Parts: sequence; C-alpha cells; structure tokens
Amino acid sequence: MTSIKLKTPASGEYEQPTGLFINNEFVKGQDGKTFEVINPTDESVICSVHEATEKDVDIAVSAARKAFEGPWRQVTPGDRGKLLFKLADLFEKNLELLAAVESLDNGKAITMAKGDVAACVGCLRYYGGWADKIEGKVVDTGSDTFNYIRKEPIGVCGQIIPWNFPLLMWSWKIGPAVACGNTVVLKTAEQTPLSALVAATLIKEAGFPPGVVNIISGFGKVAGAAISSHMDVDKIAFTGSTVVGRQIMKAAAGSNLKNVTLELGGKSPNIVFADADIDNAISWVNFGIFFNHGQCCCAGSRVYVQESIYDKFIERFKERTAKNVVGDPFDENTFQGPQVSQLQFDRIMEYIEHGKEAGAKVETGGKRKGDKGYFIEPTIFSNVTEDMKIMQEEIFGPVCSISKFKDKEEAIRLGNHATYGLAAAVHTSNLNTAIEVSNALKAGTVWVNTYNTLHHQLPFGGYQSSGIGRELGEAALENYSHTKTVSIRLGDALF
Ligand code: ADP
Repeated sequence: MTSIKLKTPASGEYEQPTGLFINNEFVKGQDGKTFEVINPTDESVICSVHEATEKDVDIAVSAARKAFEGPWRQVTPGDRGKLLFKLADLFEKNLELLAAVESLDNGKAITMAKGDVAACVGCLRYYGGWADKIEGKVVDTGSDTFNYIRKEPIGVCGQIIPWNFPLLMWSWKIGPAVACGNTVVLKTAEQTPLSALVAATLIKEAGFPPGVVNIISGFGKVAGAAISSHMDVDKIAFTGSTVVGRQIMKAAAGSNLKNVTLELGGKSPNIVFADADIDNAISWVNFGIFFNHGQCCCAGSRVYVQESIYDKFIERFKERTAKNVVGDPFDENTFQGPQVSQLQFDRIMEYIEHGKEAGAKVETGGKRKGDKGYFIEPTIFSNVTEDMKIMQEEIFGPVCSISKFKDKEEAIRLGNHATYGLAAAVHTSNLNTAIEVSNALKAGTVWVNTYNTLHHQLPFGGYQSSGIGRELGEAALENYSHTKTVSIRLGDALF
C-alpha cells in the first residue's frame, strides 16, 4: 500500500500518499522500512510513511539523471513555465486540502497554513514566469572574437527541507530549480512528510515528465546524508540548522564538490526606537517572534528597545501577546498551535529554564500550556543580557528576549552582536535612522516598520553563519544555473 484514507478536521476524508514519489509513481522503499508521523496537537500517530534509505536515493537520483539527460532537455523554457503555471493553478485549486494536511502534520494554525499555500502559488507562478526569461549575453572583447555567455541548468539537484514550512520550502526549492531546467530529488523533514506527498500528486497531474521532480521521505542521517554525499548529484540546496548545514557542506566537499546553497539559522534583532509608532511596532514585534510558533529561521527573537520607552513597551507588548490565541490549529481564531515535536518542545523548555536560572525576568508565559500536545505559552523575557544563551542561541520557539539600548550606535552594535545574519528589523519614524541602521546591520534582509513580510520577488538569505546564496527573486536563478562562456575566434591564429 502506498496510500491510505485520512481525515482532517477541515477537509474530511482524503487520499494520503505514503510512498516515495519517484518517476511520477508512489513506491515502497527498497528496504521496506516505514516510520510514524506524529500529530503534534494530541501526540497521536497519524499514519506511517515509507522511508528512503541509500538505495532509494540512488534510484531517485538515477530517475532524475535519466530525465535530465533525456526528455526534460527537449522541453522548451516556455513549456517549463507552463508546467509551473499549471502546478500553481493546482495548488490554488487544492488550497483547502493542502492547508489542512499541513496543519494536521505540522500543527500550524489553519489560517497561517492557508497563507503558506497562497505563498506557494505566488512563488510557483513567479518562477513559471522566469522560465523563458533566462537570458545570456554577448560580450565584446575586440573585433577578432565573438563571445557569448549562456545560462545552463546545473543538472540533478538534491534538495533537503525542514519541517517549519513544509510546503513553502517545497515551492521555494522546486520553483527556481525547474524554471532553470534542472531535475530534482527533494527530501522532506522526517517530522512533516505528508503535505509534500499530496503536492507530489499535483506534479503528476500538472504533466511533468517522470523523473523531473522526485520527492522522498526519510531521515537526515540516512537519506539526507546519502543525497549530500552522492557522486551523481550536481547541486545541493539545504534549509535547516547551521549544525546540519556544516555537515552538508563537508559531505559535498568530500564527495564530488557539488555546488552548495544553504539557508540556515538565525537570531535576528528587532530594534525599536523611541520615535516609532509604538502600536505598530508592538504588532510587528509580536508577529516577528510568535508567528509560526517562533519556528522561523528569521524570527525576531532578540528585541532591543530604546530605554526611554522600554517599560511602556514591555507593558503594552504583554497586553498584545495575551491576545494571541494558543490552541487547536483547526480553530480559525487560533494564532499559535503546538510546536512540531517532542524534541523541539523539550529543547525550547530547556531554554526557558535556562533563561530563568540565568536571571532574566519572565514577563509572561514560561510554561507548557495544557498537558496534551506540544503547546508552549508565548514567553517574554526582559532584562536579558548579551551573554545569556537565550540572547545568543537560536531557540526556534515562542520565546522573546528583550533588552534596552541608549542610542543608534549601541543599537547597531547590539544588533550585530551575533554569529548569524539572516534578518533584522528597525522600527522608527525617522527616515535617516531607518536607512543608516539598515545599512549597518549584517543581515540578508532588513525590515523597516514591519517583520516577517517575505515576498517571492525579494531575495532572502543569510550573512555569516546564516548561510550561502539567496533564495527567491531573480537571485535564486543563480543557485540553479551554470554560467558558460563561449569564445569564438574570428581572426587569424595568434600563436
Ligand atoms: P531541525 O534541528 O530543526 O530539525 P535539521 O537541520 O536537523 O533541523 O533538519 C533539517 C533537514 O535536514 C531535515 O530534512 C533533516 O532530515 C535533514 N538532515 C538532518 N541531518 C542531516 C544530515 N546529516 N545530512 C543531511 N540532511 C540532514
């Protein structure tokens, strides 16, 4: 069996594929292994899915290779675009189901899950539009030579995605890879394999040739490691923790030196100046850290508030956070559902205990919510010092660390006091402050008077240990293209 009937509170019964999606078919793993998928809301087992091991990775890679060398090459850029448009249309048509499966498996609030699927539609359409606009150049180096530079697909792309935005990461990875003419073997996170398999059915329905997009479920140390060290994978794109990012880069270097792009962790500063519109700033600070239960690599987890408004800010922020509804992800009023897994829940609770022991003040939260499911109260720590772990390490949960600053110079110094550099934000009504601080911060994205408002047209990625390369926007096309120089001698032989 490679599919079962499942139910979600929002969708009713549906057909959930459980196999590995290779060559447009759902198949069992070669070793016949399966693993359980847990519902984070009530800790029950939703179902089991087939697990990919090294042998399955080999099979998926050779399917992708065969497609790349064969039929996929014959598909015109315009037709690649049409396939992505069709896929986007199918995501739109199946938005309710995809969102429901996402909420079931990941625990994210259903309204947020619908937002994710809408963002997938935007992303897939955007890259569909790019497919026939990937152009080369003619470069004049003198009258005796004709040079042209062309963009070519890299080949078979291994893609490893995390559990915090299973469908959105699927689209961010597949959209640009396919637009540029590559083929793909994508491994989902072991915590959240379900929505990607439903989306795989849409790959087939959209009419992609077999082998162009292959989706496998499996564990990082087995299937993930097999992809990153595979000799016939030409490129690896990874989103996840910095620790694993390093391992992937080592595996790539130690195998065939495959091309690597990494989108890793963060500990992003959210800086509030005294001249900011305070209600606006509080809304964005709240959304910055508590959106997706704090499980965002760009979460605004370090909040720095100018000292003259520090006390007022904390009081009002607490009032705002108290309005965040934490509970059943299928309730339309819910803002925050459970954390994704027991492991994540335990890690976050450990950080909360550490913050308390280190002497930071718990302004609100600091405890588990209820006794079933991985729910954690939105937690705000004030008086957090720079040396505390909760100010330096990525918690990946609903935990906000706040401290104060005196002036612009101190805000910049504190903002840059981290090894990461994925995102940052500045809240101010002064245009000069906004631009000066934005330019000084070491971060791939700086938001001004907003937070977490990513857009598929805008590049996203990290400075420092937050990663290598940029996703989204035109920039992502670079990740998936080789640049070839062709230089033609027109004059007589020189030597
Ligand atoms: P988290 O700690 O938040 O779960 P990870 O970085 O461990 O994040 O996981 C992100 C993705 O990386 C998942 O798909 C996971 O299976 C995969 N992964 C984990 N370890 C490895 C590894 N050693 N090699 C390749 N992929 C891995």
